Formats: sequence, structure tokens, C-alpha cells
Amino acid sequence: MSVKQIQEEILKLKKRSDTIILAHYYQPIEIQEIADHLGDSLGLSRLAKETNSEYIVFAGVDFMAETASILNQDKHVLIPNPESCCPMAAYLTAQKVRDFKSQYPNLPVVVYVNSTAETKAESNICCTSSNAARIVKRISESGNTDAVLFGPDANLADYAEQKSGIKCIKMPEKGNCYVHSQLTIEDMKKIKAQYPNSQILVHPECIREVRELADFVGSTAQMYNLVKKSNNNNSEFCIGTERGLLERMTQDFPNKEFHLIHEKLLCYNMKKNTIELMRYVLDHLDDPMFEVKVPPEIAKRALRPIEKMLEYS
Ligand code: SF4
Repeated sequence: MSVKQIQEEILKLKKRSDTIILAHYYQPIEIQEIADHLGDSLGLSRLAKETNSEYIVFAGVDFMAETASILNQDKHVLIPNPESCCPMAAYLTAQKVRDFKSQYPNLPVVVYVNSTAETKAESNICCTSSNAARIVKRISESGNTDAVLFGPDANLADYAEQKSGIKCIKMPEKGNCYVHSQLTIEDMKKIKAQYPNSQILVHPECIREVRELADFVGSTAQMYNLVKKSNNNNSEFCIGTERGLLERMTQDFPNKEFHLIHEKLLCYNMKKNTIELMRYVLDHLDDPMFEVKVPPEIAKRALRPIEKMLEYS
């Protein structure tokens, strides 16, 4: 069966049920093509909150589906491949957060949405890569502190600290995304020399030295919007985030030119979801193997920091 035929079958199956498909920009392009909504973590969290559909098929990694479950305790949230997990999120356990809290009892805890439900439940507020600096500033102002605890991404913590002027104590010291943190100064110099007229866009999860060599630092949605708004005199971009975004933009903006800064910008965990698994899940919506259900007592505690983030965004 061709990819096109599988996609058509998915759309037919979807019509038979009350289902919405949400997909992250890092998903394989054939999944992005059949999604009802595409976005980054913040955009998808908002959409997950607003949907009335009984089934949410979330093409992303585990923490994204968990966030949808926290926001929709009465709905069925399914992930095409339950092994699609984020190693950075798994690294910061709830126990580690509790240990940091006992060391710094007066500091607010900011947790990136790329974290487990249990970890979110230990925080005061969540943030995404697009709003991290604003969230850090507002939560420190409301708590009257000049520092916050921030995890699990140490590079995003560094970026939020630079932008907000508020000290972000990293939980843990070296948490990172293996995709973005692989980019090096040499990669940046090489791409600049190769495409001197292009704009270089990188994600805040990149290391500081890489961010400093970029023309723009932002989340996937911020990169997408920048490209969308750019005029024809400004139409060549080097992309420093997972390649799924480049594939999306190549389709959406055929008159613009895109180059991936390096081939290694590939998240193997995001790519564990396949179009074949999507079809299978749509045909087995009541199979508990694919359902992501955050236990109510954890969901209740994790909901507050997510809602607070949405309020502050
Ligand atoms: S791109 Fe990085 S942060 Fe996102 S899911 Fe993959 S490993 Fe996790």
C-alpha cells in the first residue's frame, strides 16, 4: 500500500469516529500532512485544551500526549507509538525536583513542558521554548525572588536567564536535548560560509555559542512565523532545529529556499511514530495499549502549572 493510500484510509477512519489528530512539527512529513492541527508544544497544548473530540490522537512524544491527557481527563488520548519518548524529559524525575526544592525552599520552580507529568506536578509553572524568558520573569516578580529553579533543559535555562536577567538554577546541571545540543560552532561557521546570504535560525535548546552565531533564536512556531512573514528579498534560510520543520516549510513556502544546518538534526524518538502506526491506531481507538492516561491525582497537580503558563502566555 502506498503512503497516499494509507493517508486516505486514515482520513476515512477518522470520519467514522469523533477524533482529532494533533501533530508536532518534528513528526514525519506524511503524518504532518494528515493532521488536523500542526504546531509546537505551546500551540498544541492550547489546541488540546480547546478540543471537544472524544479521541485525541497525538503524533508526538510521550510528554506531549501526557499534557493533552492532563488537560482532557474526560477524553481518550492516544499515541501511535507508546515507545516515542523524550530522553531529556525522562532525565528530570519528580524526586530530583523534590531534592532541588529542599535545597532551595524559597525559589519558584519552572519546568519546561518537555517533562513528565509527575515532574510538572512538582512545579509552580510550566514554560515552552517560546515563552521561557517571559515566564521566568513573571514568576520571579510574583514571588519577589531574583532566581528560579529551571529544568530539565540547561541550554533553555541559560537562554531564559540571558533574556530575563533572572538567575535560572539548572535542574539538573547538564540536562539537554541530544538533537539541538549536537550543533557546534564549526557547523555554524561552515553553513554561514556555504550560504552567506541566508538567515540562520536556531532553537533555544542549542548551546549558547551556537545561539550567538545565529540571526534568530526561537521555537519552531516562531521560526515558522518568521519565514511566513519574510518578503521575497529575504527568502533563504538555514534551519537549526529538527528536520521535520524544514520539511513542513519546504512544502508550505515553495518560493523560499531552506538548508538544514546539519544532517544530525534528527530526533529518532519523534520518528518512532509512523504513518502505518497512525492507521492502526485510528482503526483501534479503544485499544488501551495506545492510550495515555495520567492518573487523576497527578493530573490535578500538574494542571495548575500548565494553566498558569497558558494564563501568562
Ligand atoms: S527533539 Fe529533543 S526535546 Fe524534542 S523530543 Fe526529541 S530529544 Fe526530546
